[in-house]
This record gives sequence, C-alpha cells and structure tokens, in this order.
Amino acid sequence: MQNQQKIRVAVRVRPLLDYEKRQGHQNSRIDCNGQEVTIREERNKKSYKFDHVLPEYVSQEQVFKNCEIDQLVQSVIEGYHVTVFAYGQTGSGKTYTMEGQRDDEGITIKQEGIIPKTINSLFNKIKQNSLQRDFSVYCSYLQIYNEKIFDLLGEITKANYNIQPNGLKMRWNVREQFVVENLFVYQCKSAEEVIQLFKLGSKNRITASHKLNLQSSRSHTIFEIKIESTDLKNPDYFITSKLELVDLAGSERISITGTEGRQAKESIEINKSLMTLRQVIAILSDTNNKTIPPYRDSKLTCLLKQSIGGNCFCLMIACIAPLDSFYDENVSTLQYATKAAYITNIPVKNDDPKLKIINDLKQQIDNLKLELSKANQHIEFLSNIVQKKEMNQNMNNTHTKSNFDNLLLNQQKLLEEESSDDDAHKNQLSQFNERLIDSINMVRELLLSNKEMRDREEQINQKCEYMYREIQFLQKENFELRERLGDPDQQRESPQKRPSTIKKNTMMVEEPGFLPEQMTQFQRNFQKDFKDTPNKDYKDQQMLMTNRNVRAHSQRTQGRQLPLIFNYQQNFEEVQQDEMTNFGRRSLYQKQLK
Ligand code: ADP
Ligand code: MG
Repeated sequence: MQNQQKIRVAVRVRPLLDYEKRQGHQNSRIDCNGQEVTIREERNKKSYKFDHVLPEYVSQEQVFKNCEIDQLVQSVIEGYHVTVFAYGQTGSGKTYTMEGQRDDEGITIKQEGIIPKTINSLFNKIKQNSLQRDFSVYCSYLQIYNEKIFDLLGEITKANYNIQPNGLKMRWNVREQFVVENLFVYQCKSAEEVIQLFKLGSKNRITASHKLNLQSSRSHTIFEIKIESTDLKNPDYFITSKLELVDLAGSERISITGTEGRQAKESIEINKSLMTLRQVIAILSDTNNKTIPPYRDSKLTCLLKQSIGGNCFCLMIACIAPLDSFYDENVSTLQYATKAAYITNIPVKNDDPKLKIINDLKQQIDNLKLELSKANQHIEFLSNIVQKKEMNQNMNNTHTKSNFDNLLLNQQKLLEEESSDDDAHKNQLSQFNERLIDSINMVRELLLSNKEMRDREEQINQKCEYMYREIQFLQKENFELRERLGDPDQQRESPQKRPSTIKKNTMMVEEPGFLPEQMTQFQRNFQKDFKDTPNKDYKDQQMLMTNRNVRAHSQRTQGRQLPLIFNYQQNFEEVQQDEMTNFGRRSLYQKQLK
C-alpha cells in the first residue's frame, strides 16, 4: 500500500518536582539513552526504543523541534489530517507538554507547550503560502468528561450542564466519520485569536472543575483546528484538513489515588475511554489480530478513529513521572507506547474527490488528444502520397486536356525523376507501408480506449445520478424532521428576519461543487448591489470571499439542501456572515466576543 505511515511515538520523562524531592521521592530507575528508555526493578531491566526520547532536561522548544512538529504543520497546510496526543498517568506532564505551565486561573501560559507553538507555526506557514492559496481557519474545543461531550467554547454553567446532562450528541458522517453536533466553531484570522480561544477554553475547563466539582485532570480534551484553502490560480482546487491536539485524562489506577464514591465511578468511566483506547491500540498493533477495533465503545475512540489506524499523520507523546513509586504505571505507559508505534496509518490528502476524477479525465483527454494529433499527421502524410500517385496516373491518361503541353512536360519531368530515383522510391514505398500499418493499429487502439472512456463516463454518470437521488431523499427527510421538531435553527435561516439595512443575496446550494446557473445568478445580484461602489478592491475582495464561502459551504454540507445566506453591508465597513449548517453554529469570532 502506498503512503503508509507508522504512528510516531515520543517518550518524555519530566523532572522530579521540588515538593516531590522534599517528600523524599527519587528517580533511580529510569535512564534515557539515545532513542532508548530503560526502566529497572531490582534485578529486572527492560529497554524500550522510540522515535524520540526526551529526558528531564529537554525544554519545551526542544520538544517541538525534536518531535518535528513543524513538519506535521506543513502536512496540514498541504491537506493532510494530523493528530498529536499526550498519554500518561495523572501528573506525568501531559498538560505541561501540550499547553505549557498554566496559572491557577488558566489565563496565562508560561513555558508554552505544543499547542501555542503549533498555532504560531501554522499561521507563519499560512502567511508564507498566502500568495498561492487563500486560507480559512476554524477552531473548536471540547472535553469528554464521564463519557459525555461538553463544549469548552460554549458557556460553562451548572445550568448548561443540567440542561444537557448527556452532553453534546455525536453523529456519524461518511466523509468525516464521527462529528459532534452543535459544537461552537469559530473562524479565526490570526494566531492571537486562536490562542485567545484556546486560553478561554482552558479557563472554562478549570472553571467547570471548580463550579461543578469536576477534576480537570479527569477529562480528555480535543482542540481542533480546521483549515480550508483554495488555490488562487485554480479556484476549483479546494482542500480541507484538520489538526487535532489532544490532552488525555490520566491513566492512573483507582488504588493509587484512593478515590471512592462518585470519583471512583468517574475513574471507571475515564478508564473505560482509556481502556477502549488501549484495546484499539492492542488490536491495531497486532497484524495477526483480525478483530475489528471497538472504536464505537467509547466517545474518545470514536473521535480518534481517523487518528489511530486511520488516514492521519499521528504523533503520540507518552509522558512519564520518574518517581520510583510509579514503576507499574510507567511500565504500562511504555508498553502501550511501544504498541502504538506498530500501528500503521495511511495519510490521505483531503482534496475534493470530484476534482480528482475531473483531473484524471482531463489527463486522459490530453493523452488521447496527443495520440490523435500523431494519427492525424500520419493520415495527412499518407494522403499526400496517395494524391501524388493519383496525379501521376492522371497525367498518363489525360492527353486531351487543354493544357496538354504543360501536363506532358510535367509528366516527363516526373517520369525522369522516378526513373532516376527508382530504388529510393521503392524504399520510400515500403516505409509508407509500414507507417500505414502503424497508423491503422494506432487508430484501432484509439477507438478502443475511446470506447473504454465512454463506458467509464457512463458508469460515473450513473453513480452520480444514484448519489444525487439519495442525497435529495435524505435532504427531504432531514427537512421534514427538522420541521417536525420545530428546529429554531431552521427558523433562523429565514431571510425575512434579517435587519433591513443589510443587503440580502440568498441562494440554495443543492449539490457539492459549483452550480453554474445559481452561481451566475448570485454573481449578477452581487454586481447589482455593488454597482455604485467606488472602491473596486473592496468589491473584488468580497467577491472572492463569497465565491470561496459558497464552495466551502457546499463541500461542508455535502449536498444537503441548506440555504446559504450572505449579507454584505453597503457601508463597506464590515461583512457579516451568518451561516447555519447541520454540523453546528459558525459565526465570526469577533461577533461572538461582543
Ligand atoms: P498531567 O497533565 O499529566 O496530569 P501536568 O502537566 O499537570 O500533568 O504536570 C504535573 C506537574 O508537573 C505540573 O505542576 C507541571 O508544571 C509539572 N511538570 C510537568 N512536566 C514538567 C516539565 N517537563 N518540567 C517542569 N515541570 C513539569
Ligand atoms: Mg493534565
């Protein structure tokens, strides 16, 4: 199989903390040497080898550099999904590695970890590529607590948790696999905005833990950055990819933490997620085990399905607290890290599948055109010879023509040429014969491949037709369901509810990709609205943005017939975009912050 990639695994050993030293803890069992970690217990000694080993003294910058996270960010820019996740027992340094050192309020982050560094690197790369591609960045932040999903960028209040005691729902979608419904997704324009959102989410994680008496180390968090980009020269070339940064809950045993009652139940639920994750890792790492991995048994593994054994580039950072008393936990972490390193992913570039078919067909057409032009050259060449022969014969027979003298003269000349060059002529004739046979074969092949192409096209058309009918049926069903449920989102989509000062230009997106007539109608309306605009640059920029959004929307909704409403203000100060999709609510970040 092409493009196979093993999950990359790094092991990070944190230093002993001051209070641990004061309590008399020590590290006498763990040694790091090159790519190897050795752990000792009395006479036993076990060694494990990894892609990267990061001893106590390694700084946050070195972690980012040694784990080649910059290259992973480059892959995201190129259209691949990427996941980085931290694994290990509570207190082993997962949050420190992913986020950095946080204060108690979660407002400031010192010694920035992988997440802030990755965000900065991503926006640097976007800037470097901005002349070739137009990028949009969206982010969301969720936590899984007690097998329930909560939005860290929504409002974290007790009431909220009570209203949604089961957390957010998860839905399966053929293309994106598992998606969380109604998760807030924010569009961000700069690294600062994304970091601000990340801090807000982390703060909400802490607030929730205080207000609702949850323990933040008991939740798994996923910070997701989604990137959509369009080629500026070829706007049909649209790619979308996501970067998932995961901080898992601790993998400690109940006996160590001495938890009881509700906390013990939580531990079991957390361990259920981690237990399923371990099962998935164990099954996937064993190539002889043909069992289907139980992704669906926990929320965490559902959401990490593409990352582990799927189509992403994946980096696991296994964290270790070097205390001698944590020997069992550390061995377990190292064993799972070793298993994870055997898992193979097949990263796939996420460009538009329709575009791929179009490009393949275009390539085939180009090849056929080339062959056709070669065949035409041959045919022209051969018909010249036939003409020449016919002319010679005509000259032999047409003695009665009016310009008889001239023809006779020509004929004599040709005959002279022929007789003087008889051998050469024979040679030429045999060459012509060979070429004629070649040409006939080529034309035959051409006709054959043409037929194959037509058959393939017919198959694709039939498939498209079938898919389109299915989509229409689903759309209808979806619409009826939402109507029956009295979905407030559906009512919100009504254009009549918009303030009258804002220009409206509404279109329906019915199928993925471009819809030429609707697009033309939409552009016509747009031109009319912007007729008196003195600022041409602004108009061009808005047009580009709108076109891109139409494409992005149509791809995101995958053909669901949802109204897409773009509003642009005539005072040209700010464009407001409010878009409802089945996946959740999305709006400009600035608007949310007001
Ligand atoms: P986890 O998220 O795995 O429960 P934390 O990231 O909260 O663990 O780390 C536990 C404690 O150890 C925190 O006080 C953190 O600041 C400290 N710590 C973790 N890793 C390091 C490190 N590499 N250098 C210094 N302190 C660290
Ligand atoms: Mg933590």
